[in-house]
Amino acid sequence: MMQNVEETRRRDSSGRFLKEDPEEVRAAQKRRRERWNLRHPGRMELHRTRWRARHPIQDKESKRAYKERNRDRLLLDERERHWNIRMGVLKIMGGKCEQCGIDDPRILQINHLNGGGNAELRKAKLTNRQRDLRIMRSGLRPTGLNLLCANCNVLYEYERGARFQPDSLANPKPLYKVAPSIG
Ligand SMILES: [Zn+2]
Repeated sequence: MMQNVEETRRRDSSGRFLKEDPEEVRAAQKRRRERWNLRHPGRMELHRTRWRARHPIQDKESKRAYKERNRDRLLLDERERHWNIRMGVLKIMGGKCEQCGIDDPRILQINHLNGGGNAELRKAKLTNRQRDLRIMRSGLRPTGLNLLCANCNVLYEYERGARFQPDSLANPKPLYKVAPSIG
């Protein structure tokens, strides 16, 4: 029976095995694995799960190696996920700075009214990310938070006394007054 060329080692005219291209061999192995997988659905996963349970050290090492090999792609995926969550939260929260109206998502910040945002998160044992995911899932605008651009956020911090300003700067000609309209 005629066999697929990729399935068998090739010989030269005198019947000796040809030295094979490792790339090609790996590709053929991969194709074979994929065909086997199609014929035996779920078996590979089962085998893998069992193997992992029996070889915890190698499992850990192979996961580490996978991460290392795919570092750039994984980082990119992670950053994209971060942005998707962030964009979702910004949308729920109105999508623009509540003070000046700027809507560039790169500089919009979720601001805790009256400060204490990090302490609050620590108390609730939530990371920023977990808080954002909660907002996303609920689809509801949370209380105690508002949306400000980076500039307005800094001015807000000065005006509520969270940042120090010397007396000589106590009454600067304001670009816009931030504090009165907030909390
Ligand atoms: Zn602003």
